[in-house]
Amino acid sequence: MASVYLSLGTNLGNREANLNEAVAMIEKRIGSLSSVSAFYQTAPWGFESENDFLNLVLACETKLSPESLLQETQFIEIELGRTKKSNGSYSDRMIDIDILYYEQLIVETPRLIIPHPLLHLREFVLAPLNEIAPLFLHPIFQKTTEQMLSELKNSSK
Ligand code: AMP
Repeated sequence: MASVYLSLGTNLGNREANLNEAVAMIEKRIGSLSSVSAFYQTAPWGFESENDFLNLVLACETKLSPESLLQETQFIEIELGRTKKSNGSYSDRMIDIDILYYEQLIVETPRLIIPHPLLHLREFVLAPLNEIAPLFLHPIFQKTTEQMLSELKNSSK
């Protein structure tokens, strides 16, 4: 079994229902949940939209390999009706699932990068992660969630 951390976000439709449905599908298809953060409401990051996001981070125990985990998260995104803009830019979405950590593993393939390369720059990831895993160590930066969150807050002052 591997402990993995996932970040979920949605800014379309019934956002609470989207998150609840995605969490239920994760439990069914990926593995048992060990912790789930509260919902965090955040402004869109990287693009303009009138719709705020609702985000959460969860930890779960899985038998899946990193590649199979990505396949499952993408299946769930499609099942929940994610729409993707053809130019690959950021857009409104029913549900987006990012793999933050897979144990202390470092993965770099064309399809998958773990730890997620932007996690240390995103308060909407670090704030909920800090609620459930404040002392988890980033395997590349060797920093805890707490440290990365406080550095990010200081840098944006
Ligand atoms: P996005 O539109 O931001 O959800 O990006 C999706 C793309 O990022 C997918 O095609 C994945 O293959 C790729 N990707 C790379 N690393 C990750 C990761 N750690 N978690 C989720 N998607 C990833």
